[in-house]
Amino acid sequence: MKKELHIIVNPAANRGKPKPMFRRLEKLLKHREISYSYYFTEFPGHATQLADRVISRGVENLIVFGGDGTYNEVVNGCFGKNVKLGLIPAGSCNDFIKEIGPWQGLNSFLDSIEADNTILIDAGRMNNRIFLNNIGVGFDAQVINDMIKRNLKTNLGYVLMVLKNLFEFDNFKAHISSTKESADYELMMLTINNGTTYGGGFKIAPEADIHDGLLDVCLIGYMNRVKFILNFSKVYSGTHLEIDGVSYWKTEKVNVEFDRGLPVQVDGELLPEEINSIEVEILPEAFKVYKFG
Ligand SMILES: [Mg+2]
Repeated sequence: MKKELHIIVNPAANRGKPKPMFRRLEKLLKHREISYSYYFTEFPGHATQLADRVISRGVENLIVFGGDGTYNEVVNGCFGKNVKLGLIPAGSCNDFIKEIGPWQGLNSFLDSIEADNTILIDAGRMNNRIFLNNIGVGFDAQVINDMIKRNLKTNLGYVLMVLKNLFEFDNFKAHISSTKESADYELMMLTINNGTTYGGGFKIAPEADIHDGLLDVCLIGYMNRVKFILNFSKVYSGTHLEIDGVSYWKTEKVNVEFDRGLPVQVDGELLPEEINSIEVEILPEAFKVYKFG
C-alpha cells in the first residue's frame, strides 16, 4: 500500500526561498503517485500545533519542510508518538540533518520513504522543551537576541553582533552538576549538544553522536577577548577542544544554575525569557526518522 505523507511547510524559512523547492517536491510526489497533504505554518510555534493536531488523527508519516527551527517546533509536538519523521533541509541553517547523513536530493529522499528506510535518533530535553541539535546559553544566545532586536538577518548582521558582544558581553558564573562532575565555572558560553554543528557550520561538539545516548557538554570559559578572537575560527573546524579554557565531556543529564538571568537558544531559536537555571537530559532513541540515500 502506498504511504500517505503529511507535510508541514515553513514558507518563511530561509527568507522565502524554499517555495520553488516545495513545488518541485509536489511534482515528484504526483509523478510517484504518492498521496499527500500539506500545511503551511503561519506564525512562530504553529508547527508544534500542526504536528500535534495531525498526529492525533493517527498519521504515520510526517514530513517537515524547513530548517532547524521548524524541526524543533515539530518534535515538540510529537515526542512519544508513533510517527516517522522526514526532515527536508529547506531553511537557512540546516545543521542537524548532517547528522542523519549527506542529503542527496528529493528523489533519493522519496526512495528512502518508499523503502521505509528509518533510523532511531536521540534528542535532548531542556526544562520542558525538546531539542534535536543543541541548546546554548550566554554569548551565542545574546548574539541571536541582538540580531532579533535590530531586525538583522544577514551574515553581516551576525558578524556585527558578534563583534559588539565581544566588547559588551559579561562573563557569567555557572554551578554545573552532572553525572560526570560537579563544579563552578566562569563562562562566556555553555552549550549542550546532541548534534555536532550549529549556527550554519560551527562544529561546536565535534565528538557528538546522535546514537550514543549521551549529550556533549562544551563550555567556553572566561578568556581575554584577544585570545577569544584568535581562537574563534577553531570552533568552525572543531579543533577548539585543546584550547585552555574550553571544557568538554559527555553525560546523560546535567543541571546548571547561573548567577543571573541569561538568554538561551534552543535549536537556534531564542527563548522568550531569560533563564536562571536549566535541567538538561538525553532522550535516547526519541524519534524515528527517514534516512538519506
Ligand atoms: Mg550523543
